[in-house]
Amino acid sequence: SSPKISDEQTKISVTFDDVAGLKEAKIEVMEVVDFLKNPETYTKLGAKIPKGVMLVGPPGTGKTLMARAVAGEAKVPFFSMSGSEFVEMFVGVGASRVRDLFKKAKEKAPSIIFIDEIDAVGRSRSKVNAFQANDERESTLNQLLTELDGFGPNTGVIVLAATNRPDVLDKALLRPGRFDRHIYLELPTKEERQEIFGVHLRRLKLAENVDVGQLSKLSPGFSGADIANICNEAALIAARKKKEKVGQEDFMEARDRIIGGLERKSKIISEKE
Ligand code: ATP
Repeated sequence: SSPKISDEQTKISVTFDDVAGLKEAKIEVMEVVDFLKNPETYTKLGAKIPKGVMLVGPPGTGKTLMARAVAGEAKVPFFSMSGSEFVEMFVGVGASRVRDLFKKAKEKAPSIIFIDEIDAVGRSRSKVNAFQANDERESTLNQLLTELDGFGPNTGVIVLAATNRPDVLDKALLRPGRFDRHIYLELPTKEERQEIFGVHLRRLKLAENVDVGQLSKLSPGFSGADIANICNEAALIAARKKKEKVGQEDFMEARDRIIGGLERKSKIISEKE
């Protein structure tokens, strides 16, 4: 099946309010918003606006969320694709999709292109086992490099990419004028987990006994995605029990389930190794 390029012409409603914690990353990302909103500030001094920004961090730390918030804050269209969609495709299809994506984004500039899991196409050639050589991946990567080089720095298109494996990326992607800026998103601290709970509790009907401090204390190592997951799971548990409000006990039950799931996942991974 052909990969989807979602060109969300409809306005992205995600803003920085939806992104909790990640203070430093937000500051850096705000600069990107300003490049999109006020390019003259930079170009009139002769500056070249960066084309590519790499968001680097473990799974679930909010890379996609952050990219969407950039589009939402700058009020520009958001075009996205995921690197992993290209791995299984027929030769040539990936490259033409990339061409298409850049063409559309340029037509709608100022705009954002978001490439999730860029490591799936942008893996260094030397790191790929000869038996797993993937022509499609390579031609997609080459097209991506061609596109990045082919548009001027001040066309109003900024390409954001996400990865949790910066170590495997082909160095060609990281050269000046390509993805030469990196923004790091780390797993949240206890205080940041509390903030993330805050964002996701906003939409729930909560009982009086809900204690966010305790929830964040009892979720060490959890990512933002895990926390979003706990909050939704807790609401489902409460609904199943026909409750009017979501209580602390529902969150604790949801947390235990998610920890169980995470443990199973890491057991499967360690058994594979
Ligand atoms: P992956 O590497 O697995 O693609 P990611 O880093 O792109 O993950 P997202 O897809 O952005 O992570 O996160 C998934 C969901 O987790 C978000 O839609 C959001 O609901 C929640 N989330 C993650 N980080 C945060 C955060 N900092 N603040 C609020 N919510 C968050």
